[in-house]
Amino acid sequence: MKAAPFAYRRAESLEEALDLLATHGAEAKLIAGGQSLVPMMAMRLARPALLVDINRLPGLKGVAFGPQRAVIGATTRQRDLELDAALQRAVPLLPAALAWVGHVQTRNRGTLGGSLAHADPSAELPLAAAVLDATLVLRSRDGGERRLPAREFFLAPMVTAAREQECLTAIEWPIWDGPGVACAFEEVAIRHGDFAIASAACQIQCDAEGRCRRAAFGLGGVAGTPLVFPDLARQLIGRHITDALAREVAQAAAARTEPGSDTHADAEYRRHLAAVLLRRALLRAGAAPARAAA
Ligand SMILES: Cc1cc2nc3c(=O)[nH]c(=O)nc-3n(C[C@H](O)[C@H](O)[C@H](O)COP(=O)(O)OP(=O)(O)OC[C@H]3O[C@@H](n4cnc5c(N)ncnc54)[C@H](O)[C@@H]3O)c2cc1C
Repeated sequence: MKAAPFAYRRAESLEEALDLLATHGAEAKLIAGGQSLVPMMAMRLARPALLVDINRLPGLKGVAFGPQRAVIGATTRQRDLELDAALQRAVPLLPAALAWVGHVQTRNRGTLGGSLAHADPSAELPLAAAVLDATLVLRSRDGGERRLPAREFFLAPMVTAAREQECLTAIEWPIWDGPGVACAFEEVAIRHGDFAIASAACQIQCDAEGRCRRAAFGLGGVAGTPLVFPDLARQLIGRHITDALAREVAQAAAARTEPGSDTHADAEYRRHLAAVLLRRALLRAGAAPARAAA
């Protein structure tokens, strides 16, 4: 199928983009990498009358490192983030998640902000943002700037707390200071590059004896939004992540999922996967610093 007719404007400044959004309301849609929006338009699942292209806005691209956070412009390409060595050291879970997103070709075009704004419940980047408690910065012409924790941004499948007239401009990622930080991203999909049937992400910091000092983890594809479990993560603090502990925590997390059934997998299988993948991720990340120190 082909997209319904639409008008196209390439914004030359953020102010121009925000003005177009404010003037055209629900008729207008931002386009970043186009890797989700264009297929949706081709299938007529989206019919914007006006596309506002934000790809050339220089202020929305790139990575900047501040004290304890990495600030990433919303239109930064996924592939550029994946290859950023400084980012791999500062926010290791983000490049680990990116390796699972689509294909090199889609990551060459797809943006970080586009993936978060699209809010597919099986997408890897929303899960990483929720696990690490990233902050999303939104701008609109009339409302100025708004900052939202990722955990409050995702409301339902493809529904976010972003308002119609808002543009996501940047995402701030906490940097975990100190040694012993490791992460793991585990996923099952029909083929590599497909959206996940279920996924698990975790970042863990261990002390020199291999005891967990800090932990964050979550599950994707098993509810309408990414799920995070700060209370279960606290249970890991001060302890070695043994197989028994990882299994117990992963099963407790999986019991809280609300997976759906479709032609690829039923709810029971997705819940089973959630427990297996999370256990695996916890063991990989929990063992990594101990191995490195040995
Ligand atoms: C073959 C294929 C396989 C894929 N596999 C995966 C996968 O395994 N995992 C995965 O997560 N994704 C996958 N994707 C989707 C891909 O990651 C997209 O890049 C991503 O979902 C959307 O990013 P984008 O920059 O292309 O956004 P676009 O398609 O341009 O936009 C998507 C939506 O976000 C809105 N938007 C974009 N930027 C902003 C902004 N700055 N502020 C507010 N709203 C904005 C748009 O209006 C639109 O509604 C795949 C895509 C393809 C084509």
